[in-house]
Amino acid sequence: MKLSNTLAARLEDPRLFREHAYVNGKWTHGDGGREETVFDPATGEAIGYIPWLEAHQIREAVDAADAAFAHWRALRADERAERLLAWHDLLQANREDLATIMTLEQGKPLPDARGEVEYGASFVRWFAEEGKRTFGETIPSHIPNAALGTLKEPVGIAALITPWNFPLAMITRKAAAALAAGCPVIVKPAGETPFSALALAELAERAGIPAGVFNVVLGEPAEVSKILCAEERIKALSFTGSTRVGRLLLEQSAQTVKRVSLELGGNAPFIVGPDMDPKEAAFAAVAAKFQTAGQDCLAANRILVHESIHDEFVEYFAERMAALTVGNGMESEVDLGPLIHRQAVDKAAAIVDDAISRGATLVAGDQTRAPGDNFFMPTLLTGVTPEMKVWREENFAPVAGVTAYRDDDEVIAMANDTEYGLAAYVYTHDIRRIWKLLRALEYGMVSVNSVKMTGPPVPFGGVKQSGLGREGGITGIDEYLETKYYCLGAL
Ligand code: NAD
Repeated sequence: MKLSNTLAARLEDPRLFREHAYVNGKWTHGDGGREETVFDPATGEAIGYIPWLEAHQIREAVDAADAAFAHWRALRADERAERLLAWHDLLQANREDLATIMTLEQGKPLPDARGEVEYGASFVRWFAEEGKRTFGETIPSHIPNAALGTLKEPVGIAALITPWNFPLAMITRKAAAALAAGCPVIVKPAGETPFSALALAELAERAGIPAGVFNVVLGEPAEVSKILCAEERIKALSFTGSTRVGRLLLEQSAQTVKRVSLELGGNAPFIVGPDMDPKEAAFAAVAAKFQTAGQDCLAANRILVHESIHDEFVEYFAERMAALTVGNGMESEVDLGPLIHRQAVDKAAAIVDDAISRGATLVAGDQTRAPGDNFFMPTLLTGVTPEMKVWREENFAPVAGVTAYRDDDEVIAMANDTEYGLAAYVYTHDIRRIWKLLRALEYGMVSVNSVKMTGPPVPFGGVKQSGLGREGGITGIDEYLETKYYCLGAL
């Protein structure tokens, strides 16, 4: 039986399942015959194959984007917006199929996958509108008889390299901004989750986005990225993924002096003040930790609880955690799906072992109950300290580490004791404490008394080793725009 038929057969529209790259409006094989198998992480079964493109085929994608640039940038902003809104509507109309593809390749529960489609589509709508507002400025002149101002122009071709944990939204959050600005894009999705990207390409074509404007290339990651970074015609590189790879891409882009935006790892602290109801805070912390089975750059990694409520908090956290159901994301009532692959499970186990060997207490997390090879049961460690991996590293798994603290100054130092600076959570109703923490936390995003923080209108991004630049919000489109200053003299 051809494997692809089994996945395609689960879709209302089987044409959304594609096993080719998408270059210059065409579905493309790899010239060298190399391919990669894609697995369902819940079952370990192969669900399809993708070709690996050869170097000359990656360059053909750049040729195509280059040729398409003139036409795409010349469209009026409202004409580009129309196509983006059509793309948005198609994402919404095909939500069930897109969610099915995502759950099968990524593993997250189907309701979460539906949520990601909505979230991803919301950025397309946002940037369709923002594209109409790329205003320049009129500058009061300091030069006699002159008029001064700025124009906003598309930067050029943008290469977008994306991770597997949010296979759809990490693409639309970048691509919609670039396309609205007038830039063609070349997307390189993670090899674990290519089918969401390819479904996006199919829908972009149906939305009237012209050939060469939206391309999806597939291949050996280091090989493809090297070519994209070295290409002078690519003017912007936007990457979401690990800090390790982000650093590499920044280095590789130096020769061509590209605009580089990086959304990298996180190691979020979740701070609970002494005034909090421990039950309310514990339930919020569980929600902030276990989304996408902990494979989320915003996951609450280090949970810092005031000593006066620590023990009660831990009890409620364990109780809530025990109620989470782990299983295949295609089944109903599942809260946590599998991890992306076996190495992620091994890494999580090593992090837990390291913590226990250094004195942490394992409160819950019986791995013998895991429903399959790629699953990791929600785990709670207490007595976590800074020399442990669970403190220092982004665990990217359902492993929560709790630590007690004495006062605000101590918790600020603890929270900032990491190379990362993406997101932090603060739970307290004391306005003075809120203000003090908000100012002192070295993070790009701070969420007070709310687990939900992201969305189209707000800037997303980190400081320190968590990245460069911001996505979304009113500045997200700037990553794809140049400012051209003009001076009209002798008027
Ligand atoms: P990753 O860095 O391994 O991979 C990301 C992308 O880079 C993929 O497309 C991959 O194929 C490619 N890649 C891998 N190795 C490469 C290499 N040597 N050269 C060039 N490209 C390479 O990250 P991941 O495991 O896919 O994703 C998890 C990471 O992403 C976590 O650290 C997480 O925090 C981060 N993340 C950040 C955000 C954010 O917005 N800040 C959002 C989601 C995920």
